[in-house]
Amino acid sequence: MSIMVPSKTPALITPGQQALDSALHQLNHAAAHLGLDDGLRTMLATPRRSLTVSVPVRREDGRMDVVQGFRVQHNVSRGPAKGGIRFHPATDIHEVTALAMWMTWKCALVGIPYGGAKGGVAVDPAALTTIELERLTRRYVNEILPLIGPEKDIPAPDVGTDEQTMAWIMDTYSVNAGYSVPGVVTGKPMTLGGSLGRTGSTSRGVQIAALSALGRSPEGVTVAVQGFGKVGALAAQYLSDSGCKVVAVSDVTGALYAPGGLDVAHLRAWVAETGGVTGYPLADAMAHDDLFELDVDVLVPAALEGVITEANAPRVRARLIVEGANGPTTPEADEILAANGTTVVPDILANAGGVIVSYLEWVQNMQAFSWSSREVEVKLRDLMESAFAEVKSLSAERGLTLREAAHVIGVGRVAEAHSMRGLYP
Ligand code: NAD
Repeated sequence: MSIMVPSKTPALITPGQQALDSALHQLNHAAAHLGLDDGLRTMLATPRRSLTVSVPVRREDGRMDVVQGFRVQHNVSRGPAKGGIRFHPATDIHEVTALAMWMTWKCALVGIPYGGAKGGVAVDPAALTTIELERLTRRYVNEILPLIGPEKDIPAPDVGTDEQTMAWIMDTYSVNAGYSVPGVVTGKPMTLGGSLGRTGSTSRGVQIAALSALGRSPEGVTVAVQGFGKVGALAAQYLSDSGCKVVAVSDVTGALYAPGGLDVAHLRAWVAETGGVTGYPLADAMAHDDLFELDVDVLVPAALEGVITEANAPRVRARLIVEGANGPTTPEADEILAANGTTVVPDILANAGGVIVSYLEWVQNMQAFSWSSREVEVKLRDLMESAFAEVKSLSAERGLTLREAAHVIGVGRVAEAHSMRGLYP
């Protein structure tokens, strides 16, 4: 058997193909380290189920648009598939497959009983009205309905989706079932069975990972954050609350630099009011790409994949990169960063806080029960810190980067599940 690896021709490769290429590269490296046979490695490289759907949307002016949607279940050997839904114009089946694969290793790494999935719709949500967005969400959910369910596949928010999207998904699924099914989706509003602590959970995990990796007082540690959305803005907030000095942030509207440190809460209020960081009066504007090359202690990419590449990695001066985003660093950049002594806390560890609290939300839903924010926070911290310690210790023991060690643990657990279950028939 052979693994389908997308062509590497730079001129033809899409960002989604680049992401899948990176994910397969990481898997192959871990599989070789674990000594997995080629059949099992191929199985782990191949999604179990992959669905492409057409989603017709009636616009408010009467026109009908048709957009493509995807849901990929990469692996379900350790439990139901789990993963967010992304609304972004550039998403494609390759990107969604890569993101689903990373979800599989992430869930295994932090020890929660899920497989990996991801969904996407190739659309710019900012170009739709709220009514159009609701119609799009409901129709997309209807198209992927046979795949999802609280025991099968549980979506959550990702880029371009939020609590409201999750509420529409929960409602669409429930109307079809004939009764309320809160456990079909996580990241829901509290009133529909959301969990305390879910909103900031990915960012809280980024903070825990960053402070664990720093290994020293965060007081005065300088931080740059790319992406000021759900993950990046609260990661900046929590790191600032810990004593770090957030000196640069960016979003799709612009990039800001304030060498004396940003008042993150004030900037968040500005963004809530204006829709983006651009024009913020208490910082200097900066070119987007310059953020990666700032002389800071910690860099937190929290936007999209493939932003730290062989082109800019040689100029990265941060000693620590904590990946809030999925797949922000290419394998070529990883090699350069490792050679330069930059520590990278990989996505499948650094941003696992979101799926950990999603799991806690689902457990509460399945039991019709709720935990206090303190209980949620303690469980999140325990799982993050023990995963971090395991990765760090394996990395030291075997001379692996943190990414390699995290993949060896995650891929190893999924491979073990396959071996124990055996192959049907
Ligand atoms: P979001 O849509 O809330 O925010 C994305 C942010 O990135 C926005 O501020 C956007 O303006 C910015 N952005 C987009 N392109 C940019 C560019 N070229 N330069 C600078 N900024 C840019 O999405 P999110 O949920 O915060 O997700 C961000 C990343 O974190 C994604 O990789 C996602 O897969 C990952 N992630 C999210 C969660 C979660 O719980 N939401 C969990 C784990 C991982």
